[in-house]
Amino acid sequence: MNEAMAAFGATGTLGPLRCCAALSDIAAVLGPPMDGGRVSKRHRWPHWFLYESVELVVCRCRLVERIGVPTWHNDCRIPGPQPGAWLSELRGMTYQRLTTALDATDCPWQLTYQTDDQITVSTDPGDAMVAFTFITRETYDGPELPEPVLYKAHAWRRDHMCPPIPPNQPDDGIGLQPRYTTTSLVRGPGPRTTSGLAGP
Ligand SMILES: [Zn+2]
Repeated sequence: MNEAMAAFGATGTLGPLRCCAALSDIAAVLGPPMDGGRVSKRHRWPHWFLYESVELVVCRCRLVERIGVPTWHNDCRIPGPQPGAWLSELRGMTYQRLTTALDATDCPWQLTYQTDDQITVSTDPGDAMVAFTFITRETYDGPELPEPVLYKAHAWRRDHMCPPIPPNQPDDGIGLQPRYTTTSLVRGPGPRTTSGLAGP
């Protein structure tokens, strides 16, 4: 698990999940994602999709803009490096363990934010930025933890550019469903269509 999170810091990828990956390419490996609903109620895109514990924000061009892993979940699960493999038990990830694992992969990291109850470590794999947020207390007025514990990890693309969309593409319908449904996303690479077909 330490190695998987260190690889996330070094490459910005979690198995087949990476910023700017096409949702259809990810679905070809992991199956259809769960529809997590709209980021903004008024707009279909960007849209949340979920794979187990991993949250994806997907642009109207169907490319991943952001990957989030809320590691405070008791049953947090992320895709492993091998297709079909899932990793869990992220709650033991501490500041010391993660930074040691990052050092072991020769991944440069920086302490980019620090308060009384939070520490953020950032890496820059090139295609995306990655940040690991640790907490030093489980509650605002709780006792200090023996070590800072990983609370959330996320990666985001700094300069997302939508690729050209062929005109007259039919709407694939994904992202239209209400929250917490399985999408009808087909397996395998599919056409990227513009959500303008169904309004903003
Ligand atoms: Zn886009």
